Order: sequence, then C-alpha cells, then structure tokens
Amino acid sequence: MAPGTPEIGVSETYLEWICDLPWGKYTTDNLDLKRARRILDEDHYGMKQVKERVIEYLAVQRMKQINSGDSALKGPILCFVGPPGVGKTSIVKGIAKAVGRKFVQMSLGGVRDEAEIRGHRRTYVGAIPGRILSAMKQAGTMNPVFLFDEIDKMGNDFRGDPASAMLEVLDGEQNMAFRDHYLEMPFDLSQVMFITTANSMSTIPAPLLDRMEIIEVSSYTEEEKLQIAKRHLLAKETLAHGLEKGSVKIPESALKRIIEDYTREAGVRTLTRTIASVVRKAAVEMLDNNLAQITVTKEKVQKYLGAPRFLRDLPEKEPRVGIVNGLAYTTVGGEMLAVECAVLPGSGALSLTGKLGDVMKESAQAALSWVRVHAEAYGLEPDFYKKSDIHIHVPEGAVPKDGPSAGVTMATALISALTQRPVRQDVAMTGEITLRGRVLPIGGLKEKTLAAYRAGIHTLIIPKENKKDLEDVPAKVLDTFDVVCAEQIGDVLAKALMEKQE
Ligand code: ADP
Repeated sequence: MAPGTPEIGVSETYLEWICDLPWGKYTTDNLDLKRARRILDEDHYGMKQVKERVIEYLAVQRMKQINSGDSALKGPILCFVGPPGVGKTSIVKGIAKAVGRKFVQMSLGGVRDEAEIRGHRRTYVGAIPGRILSAMKQAGTMNPVFLFDEIDKMGNDFRGDPASAMLEVLDGEQNMAFRDHYLEMPFDLSQVMFITTANSMSTIPAPLLDRMEIIEVSSYTEEEKLQIAKRHLLAKETLAHGLEKGSVKIPESALKRIIEDYTREAGVRTLTRTIASVVRKAAVEMLDNNLAQITVTKEKVQKYLGAPRFLRDLPEKEPRVGIVNGLAYTTVGGEMLAVECAVLPGSGALSLTGKLGDVMKESAQAALSWVRVHAEAYGLEPDFYKKSDIHIHVPEGAVPKDGPSAGVTMATALISALTQRPVRQDVAMTGEITLRGRVLPIGGLKEKTLAAYRAGIHTLIIPKENKKDLEDVPAKVLDTFDVVCAEQIGDVLAKALMEKQE
C-alpha cells in the first residue's frame, strides 16, 4: 500500500482485532460439585432454587464428561427473573467462580441498535465490532460465563431489532458460527455459558423467552434480609471500608431496626448502602475516640442515620366505607395499595384515576358490570348507576399500575361505596374477577403476602387456585394470617364487608 493512505489504519485496526480475540483459548471447567456448592453458599444466603439448578447443570456436564468424554457445556440458557437487588448478578459471578471460568457482563438495558450487538460493516468510517466480540476479547477465553443483564429492557426501532441478533447469539444451533459485521468471519460462541437476567418476564421478546429456562428469584422476607445482612453484608462492607473484619459489630436488634425503619425494598441494595453508611459513621467514631472495636446498638443506629425513613403504615383500625386494601406486585416487590371508591350524584359516568393501565381499567369495568347484575342482591336499585357517577381512585397517583389482580378489590370498594357498608381495614385482598364473579388466580403471591405482613394485616383473601403458592411463603409469616381462599366474589364480600351502621 502507498504510505499515508487511510486504508492502512483501517486494516491495522482490523488485524489487531483479529489477533486480540481469544481463538482456541479455553479454561478447564472444574466440575467438582462439592466445591461448587461450597463456593455458592459462601457468598449467597438462601437462593435455594437457583443454586440447585446450577448444581444440576454441573452434574449433567460431569456425567457427559465421564460417559462420552465430551466436556462441552451445552444446555438451556438460564434466565434469572426477579426484582432488583435480590442477587441475580452476583450469583452469576459466583457460578463463574465455582466452575472456574472467566466472567463477562453486558447490559442490554437501552440497547436499541442491532449494530451494538453485531457491529458495523468495515466500510463505515470508525466501524468497530459489536459488544459481544468486545466482551469476548475482554474475557480472553472462548468459554467464559457471559451475563446478559436486563434482557427485558432491550428496545427496538428503525435501526434494526437487537432481539433478532440476540436470537442468533443465544441459539445453540447457530452460535458456533456467529457472524459479526465487522469481523466478517465466523466466531465460535457455542462454548460460552450464557446466562441472562430480567426484572419481569412480560417484556422479554417471545422468541427469546422461548429459548430460555426461567428461574424465578423472589424477594426476601425481613428474616432473610437479617440473615443476609448478618452473614454477608456487614463483613463485606467492613472490609470494603478499610476496617478490620469484626471491628464493627451490629447486633441483631440493631440490624432489624435498620431493615424495618430505613429500607423498603424487595432486594438488599438499600440495605447494603445503609449498612455502608453505618460502617462509615462507626469508622469516624472509632478514629475520634481511638477505639479498636465498636458495637452499634439500636440507639446508635438512630443517631447515625437520623429519624426512621419508613414507618410501618399500620392499617387504619376502624372499618371504612369505600376503602379497600389491595395487594399489588410491582417490579420492586409486593406492595399494599388502597383502592378508594366514591359515589356522587350524576348520570352514570365511571372515572378511573391513579395512572391505571388498560388491563386494570377493564378490570374495573368488569367489576362494575358484576355489581350491576347483582344490584338487587345487595339491596341496590337496578338502575342505581343512572343517577350517580362512580369514581375509583388508587392513591400514589404518579406510580403507574396495571394488571388484573385488583379486580376483587375494586368490586369490594364499589359495593361498599354503593351500599354504605364499611370494609374491614385489617383485611387485604387480591384476585382477578370475571364478569360472572369468579375469582381467578394471580401472580406474585409470595411478594403480596409479604407486603400484607409488613403492613400488619390480619386477614388475607386470595383466589382459591393460588392456595398451592402459599407453600412458598415462610410459615412464620403465614401463621400471623387468617387466610381466606375465595372462589366467588361473594366469598370475598362476606369476609370483608361489615353490616351497615346506622
Ligand atoms: P440484582 O442483579 O438482582 O439486581 P445484585 O446481584 O446486584 O442484584 O445484588 C445486589 C447486592 O446484594 C450484591 O452486593 C449481592 O452481593 C447482595 N446480595 C443479594 N442477595 C444476596 C444473598 N442471598 N446473599 C448475600 N448477598 C446478597
């Protein structure tokens, strides 16, 4: 080439990229199950289902190795679904450590352009390979554990659909010859152990979902959080802040206070941060007073962190007309939401406010229709709706809410507002409602139950078909409730409504 042509730089970068890729470099897997179990348990409390699945995976590989001498780790792509901060990312790092593979991570949140995954053609100025190959270069081996974070947050627009590029990456039949637009030669991804994470299953593109095995990682109870804080977080934060292990002691009672009064979340992220700030304050006090050790008592927690940030919102004790406690499942775990209903003189309009999604609005319509059909049974005039406007509001108006599971809650609020019969406020409920008044099962029962527990609810009304899901709820939590399994909306009303007070 003539010196000085721009082509030189382009070709040089291209050749450098080719040389930098880890062609033919592999790490040997360590398939010792005992060791893997130990490593997984070391860093993570609980997460039984995830750990078991990983061990199964390794066992299968081990068998393959013994029986056919083939050590290729092929199998379904695992997808860990759960709220933020429950340890999805960090357990994947643990898996890499347990198997003895390199670990690389790529966040798919906000990726809209296919070229981010598959690269730009070399004809473009400034073309580079996609992020998959960049990650492989960083891993330095052909068989790392490759984590795709937030696969549910991938977008798509006119620049192409990254989901279809991901299909090629994740499909075991195709990915032995993955083609990057820049590299223009097949690259073998078949030995990579791909694991993905997501906050919710509903927004994962269907063809991708089809190729993955979903493992749900649920949110933690307060007891579990306490154990995580005691066994892992405190030691980790103490070391991270340059203090000696064990020099900051936080007794259980103080940890409990931190969890209850300063955090409200499904995972343990805020808890980790809060413990970090306690440790920092403790470090200052240790230096100021020349101490080698410090015990952070319950009282000190308040001194360090200020006034409690969350007060347990105990339910109102008195039964109220038109207000019902519903349970919602959001991406950050379960939450108790009040549904309010008011009946005003008017001409039959139904208004729904509180930033409700379409499904939730339809569910309100269904609830209203059911009430209209059964008006007489509840002592209402058959044409009550002609003379009144109905307003259903779900407070915390700025938070978007959707899903069918507030159906029974809205129906109960409606009946209560129309008949002026008060609703017990120590009752919380969840369930979808059909036009004929059947109560259908809902998702996220464990999270919802935990939310009700945190809110100090005594009676929990759930759909009958969800009874089996109660197994996932810790017995300690369950024992505090009177659980009612409803088949018909009538069962719900019978439990939640009181007689009209004169
Ligand atoms: P996610 O990926 O689910 O959003 P992360 O993996 O980032 O959550 O976890 C946040 C933090 O919480 C990490 O520092 C992790 O070590 C800690 N953590 C979460 N769950 C556990 C657990 N079961 N045991 C120990 N630490 C945990």
